[in-house]
This record gives sequence, C-alpha cells and structure tokens, in this order.
Amino acid sequence: MSSAASQEKGLVQVGTKIVAVGRNYAAHAKELGNALPKEPMLFLKPTSSYLEAGGTIEIPHPLEWLDHEVELAVVIGKKARDVPEASAMDYVAGYALALDMTARQIQAPAKAAGLPWDIAKGQDTFTPISSVLPKASVPDPDNLELWLKVDGEVRQKGSTKDMIFKIPFLISHISSFMTLFEGDVILTGTPEGVGPVKAGQKITAGITNLLDVDFNIEKRKRPQWV
Ligand code: MG
Repeated sequence: MSSAASQEKGLVQVGTKIVAVGRNYAAHAKELGNALPKEPMLFLKPTSSYLEAGGTIEIPHPLEWLDHEVELAVVIGKKARDVPEASAMDYVAGYALALDMTARQIQAPAKAAGLPWDIAKGQDTFTPISSVLPKASVPDPDNLELWLKVDGEVRQKGSTKDMIFKIPFLISHISSFMTLFEGDVILTGTPEGVGPVKAGQKITAGITNLLDVDFNIEKRKRPQWV
C-alpha cells in the first residue's frame, strides 16, 4: 500500500473500477450454457457496489433472489498501463475474496438481447468483499481453494488452478485497454455451482487457510423507479 489515502480508506475504496472476467472457469461456462471464450470476456462493476464483510446484501424489488458467484479478487498496487505479462505480478498489491452478486433474472434477458449487464451486476451491495491480503501472504494465487456456503451448505468449491486465463495474462490484457490504478480490482471469474440466495439466508465464503467472511441477505427497503 503506497499512498496515505489507501491506508486511511482501505485499498479497494480508493480504486477507480472493478474489472470482472466472465466465463473464466470451464465448468461454470458450461453450467450457464456458454461457449468457452477465446479471450477474456470483460465487464465493469462500479465501486459503489462494494459491501464490507459482515454486511447485508440487498435484493432489489421486485426480485426474490440473487445468484452468488464466489471469486478471487486481485487488487492492483500501482498504475499499470500496457504491462507485459512477464512483469504483471509487480503491479499486484494483494488479494481478496469477493462475491459477484448477479440478478440473473435481469441478466438473462439482457444477455439474450445483447444489452449490457450493469443493472444485473452493478447495484448497491452487489460486490461483497473481504479485507485485502497482502501479496506476500499469498505465495501461490494460482492454487487457492475458493468456497461458498449458503446457510452452512456447500454450494461452490473450486480452485484458481482451473482458471482459463491466469492473473498475469489478465493484468496484461486489461491494461492494454484501460489503465489500472492503485486499488482497482480484477474479479477473476467464478467456479461452478452458482445458485440463488433469498432474504433471510446467510452466505459464508472463504479462501481455504487464508480467510473467511459472512454476509446476510435481506430485501432492499428503499423504493426503486422500476
Ligand atoms: Mg462473475
């Protein structure tokens, strides 16, 4: 962590964006009926969608459920533009466990119509995230077990070794299109087992031997325009 601002606010809070990778695990692409990508399929989420560990994920009206997607978050440590793959890991500050919460009932018709996913993926509380583990405490990010339980029942368990596009390639590839800044986050995709959560349920998730987090699920109280 290099800047005073990042120490005060928490590293991801000073970032400018969340770059998410879709279909980065073969088994998950298959479960949603998607073909395997030839290059990373990227989309953006706003930083306003962050939710700190222990917080409450909100299901917006009129939806009854959201899908959980557990993912390894790569947190960028310094400005990265046109970074070669060979030096890409120099730009990593650390890692976190994040959930890419998805309103599948909004995403599915948007996908079918070729429309963007912003409302399906970017609403408030749709990116629950743990504290950041410093890079030095994660010696092998390509071999981490990610898991997620709903009310104590295992729903997702996978290893980052099954990622189609690895972290150095993702940093290099993304930085060829958009500059990454300190605190920016790359969500590296989800292993299979995504599924619905409803109000009143509880998600626990973690990186085996490194950290775990929990989140409650409730219906959003404030009204919406739709
Ligand atoms: Mg995802």
